[in-house]
Amino acid sequence: MAVPQNRVTRSRRNMRRSHDALVAGNPAECPNCGELKRPHHVCGACGHYDSREVVAVSKEVDVDEDAA
Ligand SMILES: [Zn+2]
Repeated sequence: MAVPQNRVTRSRRNMRRSHDALVAGNPAECPNCGELKRPHHVCGACGHYDSREVVAVSKEVDVDEDAA
């Protein structure tokens, strides 16, 4: 098994981790429904892209877990 040759100090460890932070997304408002969506992606709430519906959004499906 590979074993580190030298101890990594807190300073070096933290310097390495200084680039590990997650960056927040860049949500954009859907021009159709106002929901926040990812830029250049179809809106997940209304299925619109470029101000027209490209994905039909189904109405709420009644899922009866006991019937299946
Ligand atoms: Zn939308």
